[in-house]
Amino acid sequence: MFNIIILGAPGCGKGTQSAHIIEKYGLSHISTGDMLREEVELHTAIGDVVKKFIDRGYLVPDDIIMREIFVAALKKNKSKGLLFDGFPRTLFQAEYLDEILQHKKSKIALVLQLEVDEEELFNRILNRSLDSHRSDDNSETIRKRIEVYKKQTVPLIDYYRKQKKLHIVSGMAPVTDVFQNIESIIDKIKNRK
Ligand code: AMP
Repeated sequence: MFNIIILGAPGCGKGTQSAHIIEKYGLSHISTGDMLREEVELHTAIGDVVKKFIDRGYLVPDDIIMREIFVAALKKNKSKGLLFDGFPRTLFQAEYLDEILQHKKSKIALVLQLEVDEEELFNRILNRSLDSHRSDDNSETIRKRIEVYKKQTVPLIDYYRKQKKLHIVSGMAPVTDVFQNIESIIDKIKNRK
């Protein structure tokens, strides 16, 4: 399996780039944000618990996330590879993911870190809010999400740098240019195998 993680602050374009990546490389998309929003919409027991965290811009507790990941990964067991989008977001999740993959005799092939200036992130999400109707796409929650990202997710950059898996991509360019850079990174690593 060829597994990729796409990392970056809220609004950096992870969702958009993920759609291009899964289409070109035939990977299965695992977006914890999408999975959680589905639970909220369906008013499941988990949905009712996680809504409070999402609406306030906080991370959902690790134990709930890991359970969701187990279920999703199990369902997509037969795919060519997985693209993790919005996961992991804490060191605990990253270490746990490494353990699960090791157990399955698999691993993360590469981590893409999409970088976008903070004001641009804020403006992109505010723009997106006009169509997204997401309860967490409002100015107060966006600030909180960016703050939570810096505190809890940024340490993962070092975690993956130490594993020599980190590839930084500027997310400031037009979508097609960003994707071209991503393609060249993925192709280089695929060809190395
Ligand atoms: P996203 O769509 O990835 O921006 O996620 C939206 C919200 O869902 C986040 O602000 C968190 O509240 C929650 N969430 C998504 N993925 C995770 C994760 N891996 N760990 C904790 N909370 C998450």
